[in-house]
Amino acid sequence: MNLKEKLKPALDVLTILIFSAVPTCIVSSIFAGGITLLGFGNFWGWFYLVTAIQAILGWLVNVVSSKVLGVRMLEAQAQALLANAYQNAELNCSYCNVRNTTRLAIGKENSFKCAACNSVNAVHIQFTTARSTEPLTSDKVLKDIFDKIADEPIDTTTKQNAINTSKIEVDKSTKQES
Ligand SMILES: [Zn+2]
Repeated sequence: MNLKEKLKPALDVLTILIFSAVPTCIVSSIFAGGITLLGFGNFWGWFYLVTAIQAILGWLVNVVSSKVLGVRMLEAQAQALLANAYQNAELNCSYCNVRNTTRLAIGKENSFKCAACNSVNAVHIQFTTARSTEPLTSDKVLKDIFDKIADEPIDTTTKQNAINTSKIEVDKSTKQES
């Protein structure tokens, strides 16, 4: 098992050689043999020449196909980016108030045709910012609640003191009146 793993790279190289070098040699032999049989030059001269031509052609095909593959990958990436640039949104039609699902793109003019009344709606995208550490109080009701909580005294003794002071003041005023 260990020996098989050690031999694997060598076997891979051998497989590549068999599947690329052997057909190349066969083609070279046929060409060289044919030309020599016709009486032009010697076999090995033609054999090396045809092998070199095949190697150059193979290299060219490799370069071109990898370039084509690169272009196709870029195209696929561009399409994926384009797909991500759109955001689905549920919006009410400004004419009939029916909810429509539409695709929106930031930085583009967006519009949709209502599925119910066929009217074309323009979509305006607005952004709001908020401090990430504070609660969102844009809602007026919520803001009032937060303000009330903030105004209420937390210390109960202070509140009691305030009541006592007002009582004393009332007592004083009633005394002055009498
Ligand atoms: Zn509509």
